[in-house]
Amino acid sequence: MQTQPGLRSRTGAGTGDLGGRVAVITGASGGIGAATACRLAAEGATVVLVARRGEVIEESARALRGAGRSALAVTADVTSADGLARAVDVITEQAGAPDLLVNNAGVMYPGPLHEMRLDEWRRMLDVNVLGLLQTTGAFLRPLLASARAGRQVDVVNVSSIAGTRDFSPEYAVYNASKAAVSAVSRSLRGELGPQGIRVTDIQPGLVSTGLGEQTTRTESRESIAGLFERHQALEPDELADVIAYVVSRPPHVGMPQLVVAPVTQ
Ligand code: NDP
Repeated sequence: MQTQPGLRSRTGAGTGDLGGRVAVITGASGGIGAATACRLAAEGATVVLVARRGEVIEESARALRGAGRSALAVTADVTSADGLARAVDVITEQAGAPDLLVNNAGVMYPGPLHEMRLDEWRRMLDVNVLGLLQTTGAFLRPLLASARAGRQVDVVNVSSIAGTRDFSPEYAVYNASKAAVSAVSRSLRGELGPQGIRVTDIQPGLVSTGLGEQTTRTESRESIAGLFERHQALEPDELADVIAYVVSRPPHVGMPQLVVAPVTQ
């Protein structure tokens, strides 16, 4: 885990809607997470970028600070309980107690069941489900402390339309992992809502990111390319826009579940 000095260099112009908030975004080294970090920072939040590729998030945090935003990079793997515990300590010390957590880190490995790609199944369940649970659990104490201090507190879980709708065959385990994310979100809403934490489950459709490039299956790469030919995929910024909207509503306004997808999908 690495962090940078000089975190508090905020001088730039955001709209300031999220001024004073401390936002942790997992999976911030690319795609939706990177765009969300930029957007929340532009709105005035201190953002903490979390991912495994430390050099990538460090570069992004540096660029954000250079633009006058307040940003910190913390290298961590969401499947490591120890790593997450260390991340919570570093973040709380350097950025203050978080009041906004975007559980966005995720992986996707398509493949028909008969191929029995057990390692990839485990990886998806580990990162997408257990990783999200571990991350939320690790940050719960500071999030609850922020809520008790009267601050607005949000947990945003990035699920997928894959969890609730008919999604392509060959996605059984990914679909199951995202169905779990949405189920967890519903339960957390009941558990944390009364304690002052707003929980939102966002279910994106096709977004133009590197997610589909993780698979080594040629057939899957081709079918993903076909999806991009059939639909005008959303841009990561468009998801970031929705996340920024949700977390900047007055504290009593909840949007428990949002589907954000290309019009044709
Ligand atoms: P990307 O592949 O661009 O981003 C995935 C991010 O997750 C990366 O920053 C990666 O960082 C991080 N990550 C992966 N494993 C871990 C781990 N063990 N610990 C910490 N971070 C990890 O894809 P997207 O931006 O598309 O994905 C973001 C989320 O959106 C995912 O949950 C995905 O399932 C969901 N989603 C995406 C859709 C799409 O069409 N793109 C549609 C619906 C949902 P690093 O490798 O540096 O650790």
